[in-house]
Amino acid sequence: MIEKRNFYIDGQWVAPAKSNDFEVINPSTEEVAAVISLGDQADTDKAVAAAKRAFPGWAAVPKAEKLALLRKLLEIYNARSEEMAQAMSLEMGAPQNLARVQQTGAGSWHLEGFIKAFEAFEFERGYTDTEKTLLEPIGVTALITPWNWPMNQIVLKAVPAMATGCTMVLKPSEIAPLSGLLFAEFVDQAGFPKGVFNLVNGDGAGVGSQLSAHPDVDMISFTGSSRAGIAISKAAADSLKRVSLELGGKGANILFADAPEAAMKYSAVRCFRNSGQSCNAPSRLLVEKSIYDRAVDVVTEVANNTHVGPASKAGDHIGPVVSQAQFDKIQTLIQKGIDEGARLVAGGTGRPDGLNRGYYVRPTVFADVNNQMTIAREEIFGPVLSVIPFETEEEAIAIANDTPYGLTNYIQTPDDEKRRRVARQLRSGMVETNGKGFAQGSPFGGYKQSGNGREGGTYGLEEFLEVKAVSGWAAE
Ligand code: NAD
Repeated sequence: MIEKRNFYIDGQWVAPAKSNDFEVINPSTEEVAAVISLGDQADTDKAVAAAKRAFPGWAAVPKAEKLALLRKLLEIYNARSEEMAQAMSLEMGAPQNLARVQQTGAGSWHLEGFIKAFEAFEFERGYTDTEKTLLEPIGVTALITPWNWPMNQIVLKAVPAMATGCTMVLKPSEIAPLSGLLFAEFVDQAGFPKGVFNLVNGDGAGVGSQLSAHPDVDMISFTGSSRAGIAISKAAADSLKRVSLELGGKGANILFADAPEAAMKYSAVRCFRNSGQSCNAPSRLLVEKSIYDRAVDVVTEVANNTHVGPASKAGDHIGPVVSQAQFDKIQTLIQKGIDEGARLVAGGTGRPDGLNRGYYVRPTVFADVNNQMTIAREEIFGPVLSVIPFETEEEAIAIANDTPYGLTNYIQTPDDEKRRRVARQLRSGMVETNGKGFAQGSPFGGYKQSGNGREGGTYGLEEFLEVKAVSGWAAE
């Protein structure tokens, strides 16, 4: 069994102030995979103090030196990518292919994207001939990350913080902490100055809350549930720190009658990806009436053909969900869908046949869903698709926008004019159309209760900066 009880503070691996073991469970087997420590106030204070001491020196390090360190970090990340894939596969249940290609690949993709954005980034901008605008690092940052795309989230926060000259304390999810610990090893190996990057493990009630309220933390960058986002915002209010939030979603996927059949299949596959544990999952499928019956048949078939199995296996199956708590939450919501009168056409409660241990969920499809039903309103975070019929473009837009969330919506139609028209009217930070992926460095973030921050590329760098206007700047 893996034992990783130490934290990374001020350039060293140090024991927690008080011993407080926490077991990391392998979701494929429900067995203990590792032991870590949960930190307490003394550990949080020590890490924040290290970041505070390191800040002035790191902020002043020239761009070329920072770039060289980030390039080194990318080199190490790529050289040790198999270790990273195995850490994530073990801690959150991603099957081998998903862990290697998408979970680990997301980290290197964003790291590369930030390097490119940083190379081109102007930290001093002329406003008028005699006035300058200086973009400067905000200071000490606390990064609180979830378990569903562990390295994607850590890179989206730690790398722009490093590039802009901020220092940081990372608290990865206690449910999936092994990838974060490995990332700290990479940072150490790359040779970043001590105190720039610190890691303390802990839970939300402990280290998470301590960081959110800490007077010496200037900014919190958080990804996770709306519940925790609200708690963090309240805890951060007394010290008026900047709070950047990336929260949940309940994406609508609008399938127009002229969409090809491949788009129907894609709609279900995309929803079930990562066992449905993505904030940008297209979990509400809105289908134009004339193709509704056919679309329900196609997505039902996709669900019935989606294999579920352990993370240790290679293949295109989906893995378990992350924890007993998530499994229970999903089961309750599936039952709620049945009780509220949605038509269950694939999957349902309980584990898939032949799987008696592990947090495995049956790929599930509900048809004839009404947008007011619980399964259409709450983020399920499991492989559960809700299909909703619509008659007109206006009705589709109204249903898509009738949600407290606004992260990613989807449109499927070959009609360019219609795609652009509908995209403009959707209230979300992202609109993915016709299955076309976003470019490296595209801004990721939400409207409404999906959050207020933007991550990735140039927008992601700007999150970590203060803006200073200086008048009477003599020409240089
Ligand atoms: P969570 O929000 O509780 O946990 C995410 C991170 O926040 C973890 O590091 C956790 O320790 C920390 N945290 C929790 N409470 C905190 C607090 N009060 N102060 C500071 N930090 C705190 O998420 P969860 O309970 O693991 O999952 C619950 C639901 O959240 C999921 O079902 C899903 O709907 C949603 N979720 C969304 C995302 C996303 O990417 N937007 C990621 C994970 C979970």
